[in-house]
Order: sequence, then structure tokens, then C-alpha cells
Amino acid sequence: MRMRKKKWADPYLQEHCDYAYENPIENKGKWKELLECQSLHVEIGPGKGDYFIGMSQQHEDTGWVAIEKEHNVAAVACKKALEEAHVEKRTRMIVGDGIDMLNWFAQGEIDVIHLNFSDPWPKKYTHKRRLSSERFLEIYRMLLSKDGYIQMKTDNEKLFEDSILYFLHHDYMLENICVNFRRDSHPEDVITEYENRFMQLGQPIYFLIAKPIAKKG
Ligand code: SAH
Repeated sequence: MRMRKKKWADPYLQEHCDYAYENPIENKGKWKELLECQSLHVEIGPGKGDYFIGMSQQHEDTGWVAIEKEHNVAAVACKKALEEAHVEKRTRMIVGDGIDMLNWFAQGEIDVIHLNFSDPWPKKYTHKRRLSSERFLEIYRMLLSKDGYIQMKTDNEKLFEDSILYFLHHDYMLENICVNFRRDSHPEDVITEYENRFMQLGQPIYFLIAKPIAKKG
């Protein structure tokens, strides 16, 4: 998500560096304790933050870490989160790139990874940057708990189709696939900013849940 540079973004993030961390290696393995939760959810690319903020309010037993690499949007999300009552306690942000997650989370620490309307990177030579591409799937496999899974939503048919293949080729099983997720009502799942835009345009929302298959031996 690109937006015009905000002068206040970096100073604001600096001021709240105990909520929006840059490189929280000291929290590795300790997130559930910190967020006082049973189940740890990580959203990669939260944009302006509506999803993890809304979900943390709706599901009180969950803790949330949102990783956003664009400082301008991360600052907006951070501000929103800190303005909402009770959100601060159960959520944190990391201002950084999801590719570095192994530095911040311990093996098996994450219960659910959320990929909402991730950049589609349409050109073939950019596919490796997709958050559902091979190197990310290997990282997620290490970090997900025994029953952990990935939940993905997108408007982009091509990204969705390709991602199904990435999951299947890299030993994940698909537990749920839906090509029009919002045809039925899903009050348990918050509508993201991008999702709202696509719904207004009448576009279908693609949804899936993928779970790593445990390796034998
Ligand atoms: N999830 C939001 C925003 C979608 S736009 C919504 O549904 O409304 C995709 C977001 O992912 C952008 O804000 C972009 O900066 C972020 N992003 C893309 N690649 C990332 C990465 N590797 N690590 C962290 N954030 C990333």
C-alpha cells in the first residue's frame, strides 16, 4: 500500500517504539506471555490496520502481531490501534519485512498467519516476492504451531490460483477454499480496507485456509 509520504510517520513510530517495534528479537518465543493470549495471530501486510485491530477486539482470547514494511501506513495503523480501548494490550506491530520473521518468532510459536490482499506481484520475475511464494511458505512452516494454519484472502484471481499451486507443491493441505467468501455472511472475520473496496465494486473475494502437512520421521 503506497501513500504520500507523511512527515509525522517516522517520528510517531519512534515515539511509540514500545508498541511498533523495529527488530524485536528480545520478544522471540515470548509473544503469548507478552500479549497474555492462548492463541497468537500474525498478520503480514496489515496496511492501515483495520483487520488486526477489529479482530483483536472481536476475539478477546487472541493476541496479534502485525508486520508492515511501509512506514507511512504502519504509522496510521499504529495510531489507530493506540486510540482503541483494549487493543494495545493484545496487539503489537513490527515495522519491517515479513521475510525477516525468523528473527522475531520462535519455531511453532504462531497459531495463525493472515495474508490479506497481499501485493499480487503480477510479473513473473517478481513472483518470488509474493507472500505465498516458496521461501515464505518454508518460513511459515517453521513458525506455525502443530495445528497452525495460514488464512489468505484476495481479490486477485491469478494470485489465488498460483497460491493454491504453491501450497500444494510445498506440502500444505488446503482445508477450505472459497471463491466468493462474502456471498455468505462471516461475522467472525473482519472486512479489511481493501476488501471493502473490492466488495463495493461487486468483485468476489477469494479465501483459503492452508495447513502444513507434518513431515514424517
Ligand atoms: N491488508 C490490508 C492492506 C493490503 S495492501 C488490506 O487488506 O486492506 C498490502 C500491504 O502489505 C501493504 O501495506 C504493503 O506495504 C504490505 N507488505 C507487502 N509486502 C510485505 C512484506 N514482505 N512485509 C511486510 N509488509 C508487506
